Amino acid sequence: MSEDFAAVAATAAERLAAHWRDLATGELPVVPPGGPGTTKKALPTTAPEHGEDLTEILNDTWHTIVPQLVHWQHPGFLGYYPTSNSPASVLAELVAAGLGVQGMLWSTSPAATELEQVVCDWLARALDLPETFLHSPGRGGGVIQDGASSAVLVALAAALHRASHGRWRTHGTEGRYRVYAGDQANSCVAKAARIAGVGDVVHVPTAPHTHALDPAALADRLDADRAVGLVPAAVVATLGTTATCAIDPIAEIGPVCRERGVWLHVDAAYAGSAALCPEHRYLNRGLEHVASYAVNAHKWMRTGTPCDVLWVADRQALTEAMSTAPAYLRNAATDSGRVVDFKDWQTQLGRPMRALKLWYVLRAHGLHGLREAIRHDIALAEHLARLVDDESGFHLVTHALGLVVFRCDSDQRTLELTTRLAAEPSLLCTPATAYGRPVLRAAVGAPYTSKDTITRAWSTIRAHART
Ligand SMILES: *Cc1c(COP(=O)(O)O)cnc(C)c1O
Repeated sequence: MSEDFAAVAATAAERLAAHWRDLATGELPVVPPGGPGTTKKALPTTAPEHGEDLTEILNDTWHTIVPQLVHWQHPGFLGYYPTSNSPASVLAELVAAGLGVQGMLWSTSPAATELEQVVCDWLARALDLPETFLHSPGRGGGVIQDGASSAVLVALAAALHRASHGRWRTHGTEGRYRVYAGDQANSCVAKAARIAGVGDVVHVPTAPHTHALDPAALADRLDADRAVGLVPAAVVATLGTTATCAIDPIAEIGPVCRERGVWLHVDAAYAGSAALCPEHRYLNRGLEHVASYAVNAHKWMRTGTPCDVLWVADRQALTEAMSTAPAYLRNAATDSGRVVDFKDWQTQLGRPMRALKLWYVLRAHGLHGLREAIRHDIALAEHLARLVDDESGFHLVTHALGLVVFRCDSDQRTLELTTRLAAEPSLLCTPATAYGRPVLRAAVGAPYTSKDTITRAWSTIRAHART
C-alpha cells in the first residue's frame, strides 16, 4: 500500500507540473465550457461498493473534473482577488495531509501549535505590524484561520465579550450591541454580524470620491447610537475593499474607536500582503490602535487556500470569548497555563496543520521572493491601467495595488461588455458597482500572469467592446 502511494503520488505530482505548464502557456481556458449539471451528469449516482485503483481515480480527475474547473492559477484569471499558490505550498499541503495530525490543543500536537506561533510572529515582523500582535513577547498573537470571514467572526465574538464585560457568554447580545463597517466592506462582515447575533451590520457612508470609511460619519453614528442606549461593540475597517481596493484611514478611525472603547478589527484580506514591501507600509499607519487584524496569505502570498492569519493585540478577550473546558479535553499542559490551545482562537474544535504551508512558503520564497512577486503584479496592473487609460471609449475608474477598475463610456456599454466577457473562455474579469456605476475589475495576481498575457487579455476585452 505504501509503495502504491509513492508511485501514484509521483504521477499526481507529474500531472500537476504538466498542468502548471499548460496554464503558463495559456493552453487551457480559464472558464469551463459546460453549463450547470455537466459534471454531475458525468458521475455515477452512488459510491462504488468495492475500492477502485488510485491511478484510475487520478485519471478520472483529469478527465472529468479538471476540464470543468475555473482555473484560478491561469494567467488570464483576473477575477475577484487572486488565490495564488506555489509548489512550496502544494508540497506542504501534501506533507501535512500525510502526517494527518490535529492540533486543537498544544498537547494534541505540540510542534503544530509552536510552529504556528513562530510563523505568525515571522509574518507579523515581515509585515512590520505592531509588536503587540506578537506571541512573544506580547500579550497578543496570531492564529491561522480558514479565511477572512472566520477572522471577522471570531473578532466580533471577542469584541462582544469585551463590550458586555463577559455577559455575552451567558446572555447573548440582548438586542443592545452594534457592529459598524463602511458601506464598501466585504459581505463577510454582514454575515459575521448575523451569525454573532447582532443582526444587521450598521453601514457607515464612505467618502464619495475615495470610497474610504469617513471617520467623522463613524464618530457621529457611534455617539448617536450610544445616546439611545445601544452599545457599539465593534468597528470593522477595510484595507483594500473588494470593489475598488479602497483604503480606510485607520490612523483616524483608530482614535475614534479607542476614545469610545470600541473594538477595531481591520480586514486586510487582500491588500495587507503589500506591506511586505517597505514602499507600501503606509498601509500600516494607525495599526497601533487596532484590536485585531487579518490578512489572507491565500490571496497574495502564494499560499494555497485556506490560509488567513488573524492577529489580536490582547489574546485574553478572544480566548475568554471562545474557550470551552470539557473534562475530555483536560490535560496537564493546559492546566499549567504555559501553552496556547488554538481551539480557543477559532470556531472549530479540530484543526489541520496549516502552519506548515506558511512555513514552507516563507522559507522557499523568502521575504525577498514574496516582495518581488507583489511588485511584479503591481507593475503589470500599472501596465494594464495605462492600456485602459489610452483607449478611447474606456474610463479608468481607479487603479490601486494589483487591481484595475474600468468602465465603458456608458453604463449600457459596460453591461454589454460584461455579458460578452462572461462567455469569453480566455480570461475572467468580475463586475462590481463603484461610485454608483457598473464597472469591471481586473485583479492581477495569478502566478503565471505576464506582460504578454495582460496585453493579450486587453486586446480581447477591446475586441469585445468594439463588436
Ligand atoms: C477576499 C476578501 C474577503 C473574504 O475572504 P475569505 O477568506 O474568502 O473569507 C473578505 N474581505 C476582503 C476585503 C476580501 O478581499
